[in-house]
Amino acid sequence: MSKQAYIVFGTSNPNKVKEMAKIVAPTGVQMISLADYPNAIDVVEDGKTFGENARKKATEQAKHLREWVLAEDSGICVDYLNGEPGIYSARFALHNRCDDKRNNQLLLEKLDGVPLEKRTAHYTCHMVLSNQYGDVMFETEEICPGKILFEETGTGGFGYDPMFQPNGYDLTFGMLPSEVKAEISHRAKATRILVPFLFDLVKDGRLPVK
Ligand code: IMP
Repeated sequence: MSKQAYIVFGTSNPNKVKEMAKIVAPTGVQMISLADYPNAIDVVEDGKTFGENARKKATEQAKHLREWVLAEDSGICVDYLNGEPGIYSARFALHNRCDDKRNNQLLLEKLDGVPLEKRTAHYTCHMVLSNQYGDVMFETEEICPGKILFEETGTGGFGYDPMFQPNGYDLTFGMLPSEVKAEISHRAKATRILVPFLFDLVKDGRLPVK
């Protein structure tokens, strides 16, 4: 069997991995999950921005594993709440762990009585690819604008998706077919910008193979 170029996905969130792996597939670069690295470290997300957290997740893991690592930090920023929960999206309701159900309930509570036109929000995804020495080789930040509806609808996607209606659509990401999210989401946009860069890395033989 011929050898294949690979990078390590610096996230243990299977939803993110699924969304990104499909878009990267045409490059032929194999995405290895952190689950395959039992010695991976738990990088502390103590940055003040999506960029700081994403750079930390990519570069610290890369130096530790001595591998190319792709990481992203993402979240939802609600205008009425001055950008909250932002980088704290995963841990909005419970400060030490992610619980989608409680996060969604808390967001609905905080927006109680706020009319639709004031419920504007956007998802942000900051993506970073680090080489095995901890040098940032690629970086981009993309957003997906929309609104927070009054209740959860649908079971598609993950996290805040059942309440988030992207601009230009009448349904939430929870209701829309996954193909729509794969086209317009913050993460999909960032990953599509990464793709030509990966093609170049493969062409120039700069990625490890196995
Ligand atoms: P991170 O894993 O620290 O980057 O936190 C990401 C958190 O942001 C997730 O746990 C969700 O709460 C939220 N989030 C990011 N992207 C999405 C998305 O595409 N859909 C729904 N929620 C998202």
